Amino acid sequence: MKTTMPAVQAKPNILVLATGGTIAGSAASAAATTGYKAGALGVEALLSAAPEIQHCANVTGEQICSIDSKDMTDSIWLQLARRCNEALAGSGVDGIVITHGTDTLEETAYFLNLTVHSEKPVVLTGAMRPATAISADGPMNLLNAVRVAAYRQAAGQGVLAVLNDQIHSARDVAKTHTTSVETFRSPELGALGRVNGGVPEFYRSSLRLHTLQSEFDVSRLASLPYVKVIYGTANDDALFVDAAVGAGVRGIVYAGTGNGSVHKDAEAALAMAAAAGVVVVRSSRTGSGAVIPAEPSYREHHLLDGDSLNPQKARVLLQLALTRTDDLKKIQEMFHKY
Ligand code: ASP
Repeated sequence: MKTTMPAVQAKPNILVLATGGTIAGSAASAAATTGYKAGALGVEALLSAAPEIQHCANVTGEQICSIDSKDMTDSIWLQLARRCNEALAGSGVDGIVITHGTDTLEETAYFLNLTVHSEKPVVLTGAMRPATAISADGPMNLLNAVRVAAYRQAAGQGVLAVLNDQIHSARDVAKTHTTSVETFRSPELGALGRVNGGVPEFYRSSLRLHTLQSEFDVSRLASLPYVKVIYGTANDDALFVDAAVGAGVRGIVYAGTGNGSVHKDAEAALAMAAAAGVVVVRSSRTGSGAVIPAEPSYREHHLLDGDSLNPQKARVLLQLALTRTDDLKKIQEMFHKY
C-alpha cells in the first residue's frame, strides 16, 4: 500500500533583536529581584537560556543596544524601525522578536506598530525578574514570543507584546504594576490571545490601523518632533506648559484628570500655546477609557482629544503625526484611526 508522507514544513526564520532590559539583567544573588544591572547579558546568553526556541524556529540574534529601557531614545526607535523594515523586506526573515526592558516596552511597541510596514509578525517581550533570579520569567517569555512570531495567524495583527502567556496588541498594552510578573494588560479592551500550553491562540484582533496601513515613514528621518507629556493635578498652573513652549516643543500631551480635564490655569497656558502653533492633545491619567469632547472651551482653544491612547502613547502618535502635518483636523483624525 502506498503511504503519503506529510509535507515537511520548513521552520520559520526568526530574527531576535536585543535591546537590554531586565530580561538581560544580572544581579549579585539569585534571590535578588531589584538592585540588578539591566541589559548586562548579550543576546546569545538569552537564547541559550531557552534552547527549546531552536525547536520551533531557526533563530539568529542581533544586539541593537544594551540599555535599561527607561533610557530609551528616539534615535534607537528610528534604528529599530529601519532594521525591522530592512529585515522583513527580504525572504530570509519570517518574523522578528525584540527583547526589551518592560518600563517603556509599550511605547516602542506602539512606535513600531506605526512605522514597520510588513505583515510579518513583530513581537516584543521582556521580563520582570532578572535572568539570574530564581523563577526568572525571561526564558519562557522569550520562548513564547518566538512561538508567536513563528505562528502563521500572528501575521497582519500589527506589532504584538507577549509576556506572562498573554498576547497583546501594541496599541492597547500597558505596564500596570511596578514589580509583579503579571503587569502587562490591555485595560478595558483585553488581550488578543494567549499562549495555551505552548500553543499560540488568537481570540480577537484590533481594528485600529497599523503596519501596512500606516502612513508614517521614518526611513529618512534623523530625529522626531519634540513632544512632551505634562501631568495634570489639583492646584495645577502654567509652569510646565510655559516651560515646554519656551523650550520649543512642537506638541504637548496633557495627561488630564478624568476625561482629559484641564485645570483652568493650565488651560489658559495651553490655549496660548495652541495659538502659538503648538499642537495640544488631551489625554487622561486615569489608566483607561477614551478622552472624548467635553468642555466647549477645549474646542475653542483647539485642544485635541486623545481617544483611548494613554499619555505616553499619545506622545508617540503626536510625534509621528507632526512628521506629516500641522493641520489640526488631520491630526485629530489620526487619533481616531490609529
Ligand atoms: N528598568 C527595566 C527596563 O525597563 C525594567 C524591566 O525591564 O523590567 O529596562
